[in-house]
Amino acid sequence: MSITWIEGAPLRALNTFGVTAQARQLCRIESLSDVPRALARIRDQEAGLPCVLGGGSNLLITGDIEQTVLQPALLGRRVVREVGTRVIVEAMAGESWDALVRWSLRIGVCGLENLALIPGTVGAAPIQNIGAYGVEQRDTFESLDAINLHTGRMRRFDAKDCAFAYRDSVFKQADGGAWLVLAVRYTLSREASLKLDDGEIRSELASCGIESPTCLQVADAVSSIRRRKLPDPATLGNAGSFFKNPLVSTAQAAALKAREPHLPVWPAADSVKLAAAWMIEQCGWKGYRDGDAGVHSQHALVLVNHGQASGAELLGLARRIQDSVEQRFGVRLEAEPVVVPAATL
Ligand SMILES: Cc1cc2nc3c(=O)[nH]c(=O)nc-3n(C[C@H](O)[C@H](O)[C@H](O)COP(=O)(O)OP(=O)(O)OC[C@H]3O[C@@H](n4cnc5c(N)ncnc54)[C@H](O)[C@@H]3O)c2cc1C
Repeated sequence: MSITWIEGAPLRALNTFGVTAQARQLCRIESLSDVPRALARIRDQEAGLPCVLGGGSNLLITGDIEQTVLQPALLGRRVVREVGTRVIVEAMAGESWDALVRWSLRIGVCGLENLALIPGTVGAAPIQNIGAYGVEQRDTFESLDAINLHTGRMRRFDAKDCAFAYRDSVFKQADGGAWLVLAVRYTLSREASLKLDDGEIRSELASCGIESPTCLQVADAVSSIRRRKLPDPATLGNAGSFFKNPLVSTAQAAALKAREPHLPVWPAADSVKLAAAWMIEQCGWKGYRDGDAGVHSQHALVLVNHGQASGAELLGLARRIQDSVEQRFGVRLEAEPVVVPAATL
């Protein structure tokens, strides 16, 4: 059967924070042709929109979920078209993102190597325009197919339609949340165009004695750095960086730098990006723990569940961090993960 319905589904194993909660109903769809039928049944059963779940690695679940939790477990990857050195690849929403990166490298195409080992599914990658090590998925994004959860209408989105921005897209906006992403396409290349300047990629490659890296070696270097630096959700619940680096005007950044000369800042498109981790650390939160909710000891941006923290406790901690950073720096941090059931952060 390619649609599975589970009443009272436990969600603990389906979110990387590892918080305990229940979905009134979970619907897992494994075949594209079953999507319209499943959506029609959900529309008949309930007035609100279902809650779409990928790998649960960018979610903070703060309580039981009353609407249907919809998991598009659609699998498949293929080369759509090759034109010269350009290769358009397509992957279905339920594919693992890292498996897509590794497959693309195996077939000899480059472009996704800096995004190796980001947890989660292909369908979620455009939602917050995932990024790491100086690259975002929008850099190679070609198009995606989605189905409207209200109407069942199918639509193809190009990059402009998606309105990608730093950890953001149209799908995170109030009127953009009604789409279920089904398949995503990327334009990759047979020729490498390596981006090695961000983070520790160069030093990692050098420590392995690699002077002229291949795309695969860059992906391996990124994966090693990530394994070393980030807690593995299998052993310590987390959702990666919990806060975005705030974007402020040049004038606001200059005023802040005058007061806080050590604050790391980077130029961004007509704004300035501030280091959220540094601000959180300055407020004394790094390594903080209250019960089982805490801040990682090596990474001030990463909130962690040491075992039995509830989503509400993690949300409370996030709010306290936001308040203290705002009090000291006058900047309100924004959360990266999506909070369900919806709550203001
Ligand atoms: C250890 C760790 C490291 C991380 N590092 C990074 C990083 O370097 N860069 C980065 O950008 N992120 C990072 N993340 C966050 C996360 O991996 C990404 O945001 C990822 O894309 C989430 O995928 P998911 O399938 O788990 O989505 P989920 O957490 O299941 O869902 C996230 C959001 O996307 C929506 N969604 C999911 N699938 C679909 C779909 N098919 N159609 C429509 N909406 C959908 C959900 O409704 C939800 O709003 C990290 C997380 C962890 C745990």
